Amino acid sequence: MAARVDHAVISGTFSLDGQTYEVDNNLWVVGDDEECLVIDAPHDVEAILALVGERTVRAIVCTHAHDDHVRVAPELRLATVAPILLHPDDKPLWELTHTDDLWDVDLHDGQELSVGGTVLRVLHTPGHAPGAVCLYAEELGCVFTGDTLFHGGPGATGRSFSDADLILESIQDKLFVLPDDTVVHTGHGEDTTIGAEKSLQPNG
Ligand SMILES: [Zn+2]
Repeated sequence: MAARVDHAVISGTFSLDGQTYEVDNNLWVVGDDEECLVIDAPHDVEAILALVGERTVRAIVCTHAHDDHVRVAPELRLATVAPILLHPDDKPLWELTHTDDLWDVDLHDGQELSVGGTVLRVLHTPGHAPGAVCLYAEELGCVFTGDTLFHGGPGATGRSFSDADLILESIQDKLFVLPDDTVVHTGHGEDTTIGAEKSLQPNG
């Protein structure tokens, strides 16, 4: 049974630096008919469980710890008994949302996550957030970029814990080395490809 990618859009809010914004988050679920990984835990546990269906959730993998991506992660963990995975450099952001609840397993660059007969490789891509990661699914020909790379360019770096130079370096070194036809599944908004985004860069 081949692994596949399922998608839903879930709406809610994002708060940081004393401001709150309405946001639509992409939810990505990777796996086969038996088991799956949930990428991020935006806004609404019931909506996430609806996309998961009857499958066993092996892990809740957080691309970074902004509240629109992790707010319901502990609640989803309770419902699925799956561990929450996060890069430890995002601890300060996590703690803005969850003061007495930690994640379970640290992510690190180069780590491989297996699910439903396929593999996702963790790429540490700091910039939008210090512990931001992308997940490269080579066999599926796609990469999940969270808020690091969007259709039309890099993620935002105007708020606390972001670094504008670092995000460009991460994109150049970790994402633009992937095959051009790799489909980019983003944290917000539509898909793109590595090749399309490369062509928008002045030095790409
Ligand atoms: Zn974010």
